[in-house]
Amino acid sequence: MSDVGWPEPTGPAPDAAPLGWPGSQPDYRPVAPVAPVAPEPTSSPAAMTQPAERLRAALQPEDTPIAMAAMAAVRVLNPTGSQDFPRPERRRILTVANQKGGVGKTTSTVNLAAALALHGNDVLVIDLDPQGNASTGMGVDHQAGVRSIYDVLLDNVPLADVVQPAVGIPRLSCVPATIDLAGAEIELVSMVARESRLQRAIAAYCDTHRVDYVFIDCPPSLGLLTLNAMVATEEVLIPIQCEYYALEGLGQLLKTIELVKANLNPHIAVSTILLTMYDARTRLADQVADEVRTHFGDTVLETMIPRSVRVSEAPGYGQSVVTYDPGSRGAVAYLEAAREIALRSGSAAVAAR
Ligand code: ADP
Ligand code: MG
Repeated sequence: MSDVGWPEPTGPAPDAAPLGWPGSQPDYRPVAPVAPVAPEPTSSPAAMTQPAERLRAALQPEDTPIAMAAMAAVRVLNPTGSQDFPRPERRRILTVANQKGGVGKTTSTVNLAAALALHGNDVLVIDLDPQGNASTGMGVDHQAGVRSIYDVLLDNVPLADVVQPAVGIPRLSCVPATIDLAGAEIELVSMVARESRLQRAIAAYCDTHRVDYVFIDCPPSLGLLTLNAMVATEEVLIPIQCEYYALEGLGQLLKTIELVKANLNPHIAVSTILLTMYDARTRLADQVADEVRTHFGDTVLETMIPRSVRVSEAPGYGQSVVTYDPGSRGAVAYLEAAREIALRSGSAAVAAR
């Protein structure tokens, strides 16, 4: 597990919140990273840590907890915009799937995508859940009537016509899902090439747009929408909640992936497993984590995402936790998980084939 071990702030934030700490102000919506000292634009690796270094020098010893959070915030937000995660050699598509609801699919999609974009990658998120939670978490319009992934899948509208920029994070964009998508599972049944419509749409988009990562946020089912996401991908990312019933149903998911591999997409593999909502105070969380690691080995990221109120608050402000509270444990954990994914460069998926 990565070391993200400073306590999250409890209680109300100070009135004059120093160093860009968002505190509990309900309308806090940073559109630009908050740096305590104006950073010099540079791409030199040696200079990348400068804001954090200068900040450390400026702080008093008694400021330590908030200083650590502020330094973490600078690390997460990467105010210089430097390219400090390697860009993949070729585009990576990660389908985030688990037919169980509430395991952290959407939260992980939004936060991993945000962290990768803040660290120099062009990232596209495709919201494939009629609930539209990923769209909400990225501040993107998705009320009925907005052009969405539904139009792409059912009416052959190009992805480029429905993509929207995410609020406050350059390089990050989103294809929203509207409630119409709820009917798509049935409407797709009678369509030509019903399992590969998303794959075709992504391929056409990527021919004309620079994209390093595509994340597909699946609904909590194994129907035609999830099948489209599996046909479009080489990598499946499975979030597993560190709870008692976490492994239940996983067999069914893996069997579906095997069926897709045998019949529709020979390149698919589970490349990444992410343990979410980890609560270090419970023995159960460790037991679940150990069991998952024993079973899936290196596919499981070392970083576990802690259970944290900040993570669950962020979508209420149309944000990822990475921008809502960049100094929080949840934001730092997602940054570290994103770094692991970037450093793997899809090799786990290749090895697993
Ligand atoms: P899914 O997409 O798999 O249904 P979500 O990502 O929507 O799951 O998460 C389910 C609920 O749990 C949401 O309310 C979300 O805010 C909350 N949640 C997700 N991850 C965390 C976390 N690390 N700590 C606390 N709450 C979390
Ligand atoms: Mg979801």
